[in-house]
Amino acid sequence: MRSTRSMYVAVAVLVLTMAVGSYVDNENDAMHARHLEINTGLERMVRLNQELTNMLLLAVLEQNTLRTASYDTVNADLESTIKTVSQLTRKLDLSEEMSALSDDRSKLHVTEDAALKLMRQERWGEAHKILFDDLYVLARKVYEINSETAVGALTGELAKTVEYFNRLRLAAQAARAGALLLLLWIGAMFSRRMRQEVAQQARLREEIAASNRELEDKVRQRTTELETANRQLQALSATDGLTGLANRRKFDLEWEAEWQRASRQALPLAIAMVDVDQFKAYNDHYGHQMGDLCLKIVAQTLGGAVQRAGEMVTRYGGEEFAIIIPGLSGPEACAMLERVRVAVQALGLPHAKAAVTGVVTVSIGVASCVPAPGQSSASLVQRADAAMYRAKNHGRNQVVLAD
Ligand code: GH3
Ligand code: MG
Ligand code: MG
Repeated sequence: MRSTRSMYVAVAVLVLTMAVGSYVDNENDAMHARHLEINTGLERMVRLNQELTNMLLLAVLEQNTLRTASYDTVNADLESTIKTVSQLTRKLDLSEEMSALSDDRSKLHVTEDAALKLMRQERWGEAHKILFDDLYVLARKVYEINSETAVGALTGELAKTVEYFNRLRLAAQAARAGALLLLLWIGAMFSRRMRQEVAQQARLREEIAASNRELEDKVRQRTTELETANRQLQALSATDGLTGLANRRKFDLEWEAEWQRASRQALPLAIAMVDVDQFKAYNDHYGHQMGDLCLKIVAQTLGGAVQRAGEMVTRYGGEEFAIIIPGLSGPEACAMLERVRVAVQALGLPHAKAAVTGVVTVSIGVASCVPAPGQSSASLVQRADAAMYRAKNHGRNQVVLAD
């Protein structure tokens, strides 16, 4: 702000000093021209005056009226020259000298006029007396001296004005130099500020870049955390809370996938429905918490017994489990499930209400097929379920293969 104001001031000073400089030069030139003109005028005045005097003196000596006739022309010339010079000197301090000259000339003219009149009447003697009179001679001398004085005064006046203009020119040059220095200073200040601003912008850019990097790091970290949480959530949503086995939702997805795969590869696919025997009675006798514990142990046992790749034990609902067994025919699956049934019974979990064994047992229904086009995956589950009910009906704690 301050430097902008200073710049305006400097430019204004420069313009002003240039104007003053050109004004001074113009005035100087004009003054010199005027001085020359005045000088010429003054010299002309002296010369014409001399000419008039000579003309009159010669005329009176030669008694020649012809010469006196030219007097008026030369006198008119002289008077107009005096007028011009007076006008030119009006601006200068020379009015006193000029009016003295003018007076002198008027006085001379009065005498000369009187002599002329006599000469035109051919009264030569009287005219001669006037023109050679001491007073007239003295007046002419005074006129000449005054002319020289005027020239001297003019030179003095000129020297004074020249000095004044020189001082003015010097002052203008000093002001111009000052303004140029001010402009230089403003330029230096401006470039320093520009450099500072550029540095500040670079700093700002660096800060923004750093905070951007920080932000990106945080986003990356949050994304990783979210991905982990998502994976955990997915695992949770596929897991049964009580037993830790895959839940019904997971079973539905896996079963459909296995069905499609078996269908594509034309391989057998078996499913087993496992149901804890007389579990309501178990709950009633031992309490619901013991029932939960019993379900956990049975689930662990099932999980331990089913370990081949692709096989999967799931909690189908309540005290029922479904086991997906890819690649086995009905009898093969039956053999494998028989081992499962035995394993559960071998746990020896006491079941006071199981009249025959006295321990917790399971009934298992098995169904297997090579999926045929148009056959639904649910139909095989239904068949396994039906087989499981047959196992119940036949006295429980057994494996039954679907028809
Ligand atoms: P069956 O031998 O014919 O299968 O007889 P059941 O008593 O096992 O059959 P039912 O379907 O009548 O009873 C199943 C019981 O399983 C009923 C319910 O209280 C019990 N049950 C289901 N889910 C749970 C569970 O998560 N925890 C406990 N403690 N009991 C459960
Ligand atoms: Mg049941
Ligand atoms: Mg049951």
